[in-house]
Amino acid sequence: MPADMQSKIQSSTQQKPRRPVVAIIGGGVSGGGVAYHLVKLTDGDAPEIKVFEPRPMLGRGLAYDTADPAHRINVPAAKMSLQPDDAEEFQRWVEANHAVRDDPEARRENGQLFPRRRVFGDYVGSLLQPFLKSGAIAHRRATVTALRHNGDGWTILDDKGGRTEADIVAIATSHPPPVAPGRLAAILGDHPRFVADTTKPGALEVVRPGDRVLVIGNGLTAADVIASLARNGHEGPIVAISRRGLRSRGHAAIAQEPFGDFVAELSFSAVALLRKVKLTIRQAAEQGMTWHAVIDQVRTQGHDLWRALPVAERQRIVRHLRPFWDVHRFRIAPQVEAALDTAIDAGRLEILAASVAGAEIDGETIRVSLQPRRARESRTQEFDAVIVTTGPAHGGILQTQPWLSELEREGYLALDPSGLGLACSEHSEAMGPDGRVTPSLLISGPLARGTFGELMGLPQISEHALFVAREIAEKLKTAAAR
Ligand SMILES: Cc1cc2nc3c(=O)[nH]c(=O)nc-3n(C[C@H](O)[C@H](O)[C@H](O)COP(=O)(O)OP(=O)(O)OC[C@H]3O[C@@H](n4cnc5c(N)ncnc54)[C@H](O)[C@@H]3O)c2cc1C
Repeated sequence: MPADMQSKIQSSTQQKPRRPVVAIIGGGVSGGGVAYHLVKLTDGDAPEIKVFEPRPMLGRGLAYDTADPAHRINVPAAKMSLQPDDAEEFQRWVEANHAVRDDPEARRENGQLFPRRRVFGDYVGSLLQPFLKSGAIAHRRATVTALRHNGDGWTILDDKGGRTEADIVAIATSHPPPVAPGRLAAILGDHPRFVADTTKPGALEVVRPGDRVLVIGNGLTAADVIASLARNGHEGPIVAISRRGLRSRGHAAIAQEPFGDFVAELSFSAVALLRKVKLTIRQAAEQGMTWHAVIDQVRTQGHDLWRALPVAERQRIVRHLRPFWDVHRFRIAPQVEAALDTAIDAGRLEILAASVAGAEIDGETIRVSLQPRRARESRTQEFDAVIVTTGPAHGGILQTQPWLSELEREGYLALDPSGLGLACSEHSEAMGPDGRVTPSLLISGPLARGTFGELMGLPQISEHALFVAREIAEKLKTAAAR
């Protein structure tokens, strides 16, 4: 930073330098995490920290702002901490606060805890609370509608009529709403039981107990939806489709340490990396361990191995290996897995590798033509409800909010070449289409994963939040020293 920031701070207040302002757009775990770590890092010399977040509480975001009791964390509590150097903080917090007292299902026989997702939001909120109370962090309950570089810094406009000046801005808006396939939305848009966005509160309430349901997608959101339907007494048949018909895997029966080493000798192509992962899984099996331990190591070393891959190889991974990676890396909570297994065993849930070839509405019935993978013939089936669970559409992130599109047009933002989020430097600074980096605009959380590799869940989210907070603290220090 911004020599411009320094001059602004000094010129505007010759007698008493004003505190720099850091604005964070998005107050989920990423944005809340950056604010939290920044206060701690700059203790005694903290900037003004303003977090823009329309939700009532900071720290929840999309994932942990759900009241649905079927929604559980999909990583054991002992691995979901906001402190990168204290993995078990959340687990201790749960025990100390008796946070699963009314939820005996949360505790597994092997001792692992899988609390409801809301509980994790409570934990992050409890860490932020003292700083909100002291004023070290300000929660602006508003949606940002414009972000303009004003030469000296940034001007932020929000939907509550606010105008805020900031020296440094971090974008932590992460998950855009899911986008239903355009053609399907056009045909089914007006049907009362076409659910295009399951993140809306009460979205599944339109589904009746005996409804025949088509679920489009087979990932974590689909698993959540099927578990929620079961919990709400749904007994009708469900067909869940995805291109490859892969289903998110569960956790290992016993906890294991990460196994293997993918950075001592780096792989420089997708094929070489895949080969190494397969070999390591075989070696793990020889030692009585499962693939879970190997994938955990790939996650842990994800940043370094991703950095070693040329862009074309990263793109190859996204194109060909991502579906396989996703189902092994995003595991479902045992309670959710049990709900799915029960439905499959009862013959109520069919998981299919297929796509939607066409659809029509006939009265209240939705007639869908399904094209099974590698089959010539399509199959037509009738449903009462269609639920889209294809997840957040990160590839279209720049089109999801007008101010992001505007920043793209002005050359401050670009889609990462692997299509996973926003382009940024190794310092997490936003990068425009011409490769120009803007040091006072940072990207925090999953939107930075095109550069940082695996960056979707905890603990990588907390590590990255701390990393971004450090980068900001460093910029502030440099500016102050000038
Ligand atoms: C349904 C779901 C379940 C998950 N479960 C787990 C899990 O159990 N374990 C795990 O490790 N990971 C899980 N994940 C992965 C998840 O990416 C991270 O754990 C984490 O929640 C990401 O938080 P975030 O703050 O980066 O993003 P988000 O949760 O998307 O937060 C972004 C915030 O930005 C706000 N925002 C957006 N636009 C604006 C704007 N213009 N102005 C102001 N605010 C704005 C939104 O309101 C939102 O609160 C899950 C993800 C999803 C989607």
